[in-house]
Amino acid sequence: MGDSATVKRLPLLLWLVGIAVATGLASLVFDASLVQTGVAVLVAALLLKVGLVMIGGLAQPVPDPAEPGVLRKVKLVYRCSICGAEVKMTVASSEDPEPPRHCLEDMELVTPIE
Ligand SMILES: [Zn+2]
Repeated sequence: MGDSATVKRLPLLLWLVGIAVATGLASLVFDASLVQTGVAVLVAALLLKVGLVMIGGLAQPVPDPAEPGVLRKVKLVYRCSICGAEVKMTVASSEDPEPPRHCLEDMELVTPIE
């Protein structure tokens, strides 16, 4: 697979300069040797890169909204047990959808109007 070209989008020089600067600063701040700090910064940079790759892998595209044909017309009334607000759900992806939330709690199903 020819993935190497796309993986190296961030210029290597930028990484090296950043690592050098970070090493210098960190060795000043922590009063440690340049070699010790350099190794630590390299490890940190590697972890950061691995983390970014993993985050990129987790960032799945938002799923497309359901097809209109899949949605069902419903008439469900929910009430918030905390503040008393009521809402009517008119369209849902199933006949028994998850209740909406209000005041950080699931709302109570009041009447499935037939
Ligand atoms: Zn509420």
